[in-house]
Amino acid sequence: ILSSALDTLHGRFLLVLLLGGPRGLLLCALDGRIFINNEWHESISGKTFPTYNPSTLEKICDVQEGDKPDVDKAVEAARAAFQRGSPWRQMDVLSRGRLLHKLADLIERDRVTLATLETMDTGKPFLQAYFIDLEGCIKTLRYYAGWADKIQGRTIPVDENFVCFTRHEPMGVCGAITPWNFPLLMLVWKMAPALCCGNTLVIKPAEQTPLTSLYMGSLIKEVGFPPGVVNIVPGYGPTAGAAISTHHNIDKIAFTGSTKVGKLIKEAASKSNLKRVTLELGGKNPCIVCADADLDLAVECAHQGVFFNQGQCCTAASRVFVEEQIYPEFVKRSVEYAKKRLVGDPFDARTEQGPQIDQKQFDKILELIESGKKEGAKLECGGLAIEDRGLFIKPTVFSEVTDNMRIAKEEIFGPVQPIMKFKSIDEVIKRANSTEYGLTAAVFTKNLDRALTLASALQSGTVWINCYNALYAQAPFGGFKMSGNGRELGEYALAEYTEVKTVTIKLSQKNH
Ligand code: NAP
Ligand code: MG
Repeated sequence: ILSSALDTLHGRFLLVLLLGGPRGLLLCALDGRIFINNEWHESISGKTFPTYNPSTLEKICDVQEGDKPDVDKAVEAARAAFQRGSPWRQMDVLSRGRLLHKLADLIERDRVTLATLETMDTGKPFLQAYFIDLEGCIKTLRYYAGWADKIQGRTIPVDENFVCFTRHEPMGVCGAITPWNFPLLMLVWKMAPALCCGNTLVIKPAEQTPLTSLYMGSLIKEVGFPPGVVNIVPGYGPTAGAAISTHHNIDKIAFTGSTKVGKLIKEAASKSNLKRVTLELGGKNPCIVCADADLDLAVECAHQGVFFNQGQCCTAASRVFVEEQIYPEFVKRSVEYAKKRLVGDPFDARTEQGPQIDQKQFDKILELIESGKKEGAKLECGGLAIEDRGLFIKPTVFSEVTDNMRIAKEEIFGPVQPIMKFKSIDEVIKRANSTEYGLTAAVFTKNLDRALTLASALQSGTVWINCYNALYAQAPFGGFKMSGNGRELGEYALAEYTEVKTVTIKLSQKNH
């Protein structure tokens, strides 16, 4: 790991790597700077901010703190790169696709380094970063690389002496504001379609997790993207983030994060220049287990569905509805799973669960657990932090949960599984849909009729049948209701990064 990291860092960070700890824990001291025009910059204010390793609570490094003037500089670079006649605008579409493939190649080359940085910055288990986050990045880039030369308009029959066609043109300068739960993957979900359509980008990673996004800057340069096509400004949401959402010279913004900030972004967009907005927000996702389900499969999927990534997923299976006949058995087996879940050092290959991202999230989760106890849910296991171990929380299962409890209504974003009981399909549809969110839903049943009835009745952007978190670069992802606007991934995302232009030509003679 050490030699691979040193080989591939190319001096982009001031790097001190110390190999320490019995399991080869890497401690890195890095110097992250702002990436504009394929160059590294100090912040204009001279300010920096620290980023921490949530599993040790040690500072990893200081990062340059971007603010409005830095965002302005990045937008200027992105606008210049988008001007007519620029190398990026003149590039043929196949070459654009080749750059995306090359970026995927470099991520494959540096996969260990990137997974190491992601694990240090987020606390997620290294093997999950390597096999899930990085795998998703590579596949998403390759998928959109293939689209670069296939973005086509249509010829539309109109009056006979007119010819009418559409062009799907890039929108321009796109802002991307990303969260800390899947920092690199959420960046790639935005960057890959944006670039394949010919846009330029200004990116602000979450303040907790800027390192892999900054590393991408160096790969962007190495791949040979023209200067200004991708710009990365680390900083805080209310300053650097707001500078992007209110900017008059940014044409589109793509955001993943909380519903609260999603609303602010939409408001800022409408108060500035009505920039296009796509939002991927929260979820309180129902996971419905019918009495005829394959119980082993349902218990395991529901467990992974809620505990994966320390529970910090917008797709978390955070409302499990179980049909009454199998409720006691389902709860018993879910508790067995939760008790066996290994919590600890994310660099240990056996670890299934690392720490929560920061003190604020940790406190919020423990407060919600307390509310569950007070409101009368039955605590089956967990329910506490792991003592003397920073931000680690014991996998927690609540049974006898009712819909009015806070743990059944609010997004917990932690390792907490609330399990409810239902009697009939009509009842569970109504209860599953009675939330302001609508991101994902899952159904476990062997009955085709029930599966398809639920798939059509559930108000959510995704319905998984007999599986969980089955996400593909080819298939769209996004939310109904307050879980968001627009779709990421798949062909659908291309529409979020292009403007449709209608060209109508009058012929001097009748066209027949
Ligand atoms: P958040 O504030 O929504 O953070 C997401 C991104 O938005 C970060 O890059 C953040 O920057 C930025 N941001 C914050 N305020 C902004 C503003 N006024 N204008 C523009 N950008 C802004 O999320 P959080 O506070 O870290 O987490 C709170 C809750 O959000 C979680 O408990 C969870 O429920 C939800 N969440 C959802 C997802 C998801 O995948 N849908 C991901 C993360 C969190 P800073 O990091 O600098 O604040
Ligand atoms: Mg925040």
